[in-house]
Amino acid sequence: MSNSYILTDNLSVKDGVLFFGGRSTKELAEKYGTPLYLMDEKRIRQNCCEYRDALKEFFGDDSCALYASKAASFVGIYRIISQEGLGADVVSSGEIHTALKAGFPMENAYFQGNNKTDWDIAYAMDNGVGYFVCDNVEEVDAIDKIAAEKGLKQKILLRLTPGIDPHTYDEVCTGKVDSKFGTAIETGQAMEITAHALSKPNIILCGFHCHVGSMVFDSDVFLRSAEIMLQFISDVKNKLGFEAGILDLGGGYGVRYVSSQPVISIRENIKEVAKFIKAKCSELGISRPSIRLEPGRSIVADAGITLYTVGTVKKITDYKNYVSIDGGMTDNPRYALYESKYTVVPADKTDEPATMECDLVGRCCESGDIIQPKVMFPGSVCRGDLVAVLTTGAYNYSMASNYNRIPRPPVVMVNGDEDYIAVKRESLEDLTLNDI
Ligand SMILES: *Cc1c(COP(=O)(O)O)cnc(C)c1O
Repeated sequence: MSNSYILTDNLSVKDGVLFFGGRSTKELAEKYGTPLYLMDEKRIRQNCCEYRDALKEFFGDDSCALYASKAASFVGIYRIISQEGLGADVVSSGEIHTALKAGFPMENAYFQGNNKTDWDIAYAMDNGVGYFVCDNVEEVDAIDKIAAEKGLKQKILLRLTPGIDPHTYDEVCTGKVDSKFGTAIETGQAMEITAHALSKPNIILCGFHCHVGSMVFDSDVFLRSAEIMLQFISDVKNKLGFEAGILDLGGGYGVRYVSSQPVISIRENIKEVAKFIKAKCSELGISRPSIRLEPGRSIVADAGITLYTVGTVKKITDYKNYVSIDGGMTDNPRYALYESKYTVVPADKTDEPATMECDLVGRCCESGDIIQPKVMFPGSVCRGDLVAVLTTGAYNYSMASNYNRIPRPPVVMVNGDEDYIAVKRESLEDLTLNDI
């Protein structure tokens, strides 16, 4: 095999075996069993550090990164994130509950989502969530009403759609005018909702938010959305006399799933965005708002891999080869959902030439249960071999299901010489816990 699977410097090989975070995947698979989510705590911290340091250097102390925790949400991750000084985006009462269990400082939590129920709103307020990122007019009204009942004033940002298509995948494109998320600037509705929010006695409008999509490699996307948002902030100042204190530009920086994708420097990107924002603010005569970024994928994706054991190897003469593993779309639905690319490694046979093309498929009763089509494996690959799928730290565990009553794998953290269970493997008993 060529070394095109060394996507990041926390991957290496020794004696034909893939190492992750300096640790043998073979030994970890033997210790914890498969399927197994592995996460590299050091890498998560490094990724946090890159955002934190660049925001501080180029924007100053008033700006900060919020980890979009839907990318990977479990108690241990909120602990790491808060230790690293990041805030967090939460999108449900379940994520709020998980953050609370970790002792996360809830004043640094931002409640996202396009349809928060009254129950969610009350739960978030009762638990001191700092900011609501308010999606639409109904939500402004609901937040104001529930805040009044509780005798508090709730800080909010308004989520706007700047009308940008980041040219990534439709499924993960959220900044266009035609989107279920946010209120459009282009149609005049953003100005209306701003006036409406300012008129509400139990709401404190702190600023504006946008999130244009995911897997963005081109920093131009952030410059264009910043330009539209700053222009809007200036228009609001002129029309309504309100000057936004916070501008949240969302998340979306891309990561490398395959070696043909570029490595992007977060630091250089933030530097460029900061330079642009400073110039634009002085051109518009507004003071620079405090900046928020909301990285999800780029904090955890390359800090994770998944290990599987090979089961059936089916060679259909003159057609195709299938290699089946002991997991599938239940622990990684992303190929089934988006045809996402992944790099697949025969983790205990990396020194053998990869001569056999096959589809890597899961164990679910579903033809679409494909982890990755057309991968190259050594011809000797057989039952019992170890397979690693790389860059699975984001949107794998958090999207996992129990389809076919398959228990979810554990999340095991490696941290230098240490390894520990962050999320236990689900047992068969766990599967029937709520069945009556
Ligand atoms: C999903 C999401 C993010 C994170 O996106 P990534 O591509 O994982 O960085 C940030 N903000 C909002 C509002 C989101 O919905």
